[in-house]
Amino acid sequence: MFEPCDCGSGATYITCCGRLHAGAPAPDAEALMRSRYSAFRRADVAYLLKSWAAETRPASLSLDPAQEWTGLKIHRHRLTGPDTAIVKFTARWRSGQRTGGLTETSRFRRDGAGWVYVDGSAG
Ligand SMILES: [Zn+2]
Repeated sequence: MFEPCDCGSGATYITCCGRLHAGAPAPDAEALMRSRYSAFRRADVAYLLKSWAAETRPASLSLDPAQEWTGLKIHRHRLTGPDTAIVKFTARWRSGQRTGGLTETSRFRRDGAGWVYVDGSAG
């Protein structure tokens, strides 16, 4: 059965973010970013914490159950060094009757075989 990935890549979930959620290392920062968006959609807190750099990871994370993530657009993915990268994206959301978009430039770093999220700033 074709299950389109939550991140909107057009690939199937199991060959896209599902691989990362199952433990495969992210090949690049954009793939990690996509897998984190998909994890937000699935309320997979364990994955969100696991894919967060140890130095900036919060002790816990609580998601707003009323907030639904409705779309992801990647604007830019750029290496900023041999082991660092940024991804600028907009994530659309809906909460009850309200809708909005979160635009953020996130920083990532290489961690072992994969990548982890460091932090982000608006815009
Ligand atoms: Zn995906």
